[in-house]
Amino acid sequence: MAYDVIVVGAGPGGSAYAKIAAEEGLNVLLIERGRYPGEKNTSGSTIWGNVAREIIPDFPADAPIERVVDGYRMFWVPEPGPDWSEFSGAARDKSFVDPLDVYRNEFDQWWADQAVQAGAELKTSTKVVNVLREDTKIIGVLTEKGEKIEGQITIGADGVNSIIARMSGLRAKWPATENALCIKYDWVMDEKTITDRWGSGMEDGVLIEVYWGATIGGNAGYFWIFPNRNSVSLGLGSLMSDYVKYGYNTHWYMANAINHPLVKPKLKGGKIREIHAHAIPLTDPLMGYMNYTYGDGVMVVGDAAGMVCAIDGAGWYGAVKAGKLAAKISVKAIETGDTSADTLARYQKKWSEGDIGKTLRIGKDLEIWLTHDVGINELAKMVTAFNSRAMSHPFDFSVIQQTIPNLDKIMGILRPARFGILPFLELFGSLVGGR
Ligand SMILES: Cc1cc2nc3c(=O)[nH]c(=O)nc-3n(C[C@H](O)[C@H](O)[C@H](O)COP(=O)(O)OP(=O)(O)OC[C@H]3O[C@@H](n4cnc5c(N)ncnc54)[C@H](O)[C@@H]3O)c2cc1C
Repeated sequence: MAYDVIVVGAGPGGSAYAKIAAEEGLNVLLIERGRYPGEKNTSGSTIWGNVAREIIPDFPADAPIERVVDGYRMFWVPEPGPDWSEFSGAARDKSFVDPLDVYRNEFDQWWADQAVQAGAELKTSTKVVNVLREDTKIIGVLTEKGEKIEGQITIGADGVNSIIARMSGLRAKWPATENALCIKYDWVMDEKTITDRWGSGMEDGVLIEVYWGATIGGNAGYFWIFPNRNSVSLGLGSLMSDYVKYGYNTHWYMANAINHPLVKPKLKGGKIREIHAHAIPLTDPLMGYMNYTYGDGVMVVGDAAGMVCAIDGAGWYGAVKAGKLAAKISVKAIETGDTSADTLARYQKKWSEGDIGKTLRIGKDLEIWLTHDVGINELAKMVTAFNSRAMSHPFDFSVIQQTIPNLDKIMGILRPARFGILPFLELFGSLVGGR
C-alpha cells in the first residue's frame, strides 16, 4: 500500500492524529479539501492549552494565540422582565483547564504544519468523495479528481458531514435533534478597546462571556462573546429541530442578541468583518446514532464521530484527544500487521470509558434535562432566583471540570430516567424560584 495511514481532514483532530502517527514513524498522508488547512473552518475561538500540550509539549511556544482566557462571565437573562443575574469564574488551575482564544483560519494552518514538520505529507485542495473497499475492509479513498489512494488505515477527521463515516457505513447524517446550526460574526474592534472592555484585570488575559435566555441566546442554546486580538467572536446556535419547533432562525436570534441592552454598549464602535455559518453535532453518539466509530481498516475522530459536548458545544478537545488515541492504536495495529475491526475496537472502548465518553454523556444529559425538559427561559428564571439568594461568589472553572468524572457516576444512576426527570426539575424550580 502507498501509505500506512490516510487521514481525511486537516482540522484539530486530523492534524493531531497525523503529528503523533508521523512522530511514531508511520507513513502518513493528510488530505484537506481547502486550499490550506483552516480555510473552511470556524469556531467560537476557545481551545485548551493543557490538551494541546498532550500533542505539542512546549505549546504555545510560537503558536498564533489571540488571547489568554483568565475566566468567564455567565449571564442569565430570563424573559420577560428586567431581571438578570451573573456568575463569574476563573480558570485557576491552568494544568487542568487552560483556555486560549484563537482564530481558526490561522491557527489550523499552524496546527497542521506541526504534523508536516513531524513527517506527514499534506495534500491540499483535494476533496475525498468515497472510500475504497476490498470486501468488508476499507483500503483507502477516492478523490473528486478520480485518484485512488491506498492506505492500511483510513482516518475520518472530516468533520460534521463526514464522508468517511457515511461511506464506511458507520453512520447516517446526524438527525435534526442531534445537529445544531451555529452562526458566528467576526466583529472587528481595535485591540485596546477589546482589552478595556473584556480584560480580566488579573493577568494579561480576557474574560469570555456566555448569555443564556430565550431571546438573547435562543430557546435551546446560548449567545457567546469570545474576545480575540483585533476582533470579537459573537455567535449562537441551537439544534436544527429547535429552530423548527420555535419558528425562528439564526439571524433573528443574532439581531436580538447584538441589540440587547446588556450587549449593545460593549460592541459599540465595531463592525462585522465576516459571517460564518456551520453545523455542529450535539449528541451522545453511542446513544443509538452511531454504534461504531471504527470498522475494518477505519476509525473516525472528532465531529465526524459526534465528539462535541452537547451542553456547551465545545469539540476541539474531543477531536484532539481522539486523534491522539487513534494514532497510538494505529501504531500498534500496523506494527502487528492487524488493522481489522477487532483490533481497532480498542479505540472505541478507550474513548467511551475515558474523558471523551464521560463529557459526551454528561453533556447530552444536561442538554436534554436543562434546555429541553426545563427550558432555557425557566432555567434562567430559576438561576436568577437562586443566584440572588445563595450564589454571590465566583466558581472556579477548573474545579467544575475536575468534578466531571464523578458527575458521570452520579448521573449514570439517573440516566435511565433521562426522559422522565421533568417533574422533579419542575418541583425543584418551583421551590428555588418561589413560584
Ligand atoms: C460556530 C462554531 C463555534 C464553535 N466554537 C467552539 C469553541 O469555541 N470551542 C470548541 O472547543 N469547539 C467549538 N466548536 C466546535 C469545534 O469547532 C469542532 O468540534 C472542531 O472543529 C472539530 O474538529 P474536527 O477536526 O473533528 O473537525 P473540523 O474542524 O470540522 O475539521 C474537518 C476538516 O476536514 C476537512 N474536510 C471535510 N470534508 C472533507 C473531504 N471530503 N475531503 C477532504 N477534507 C475534508 C475540512 O475542510 C476541515 O479542515 C464550534 C463549532 C462551531 C460551528
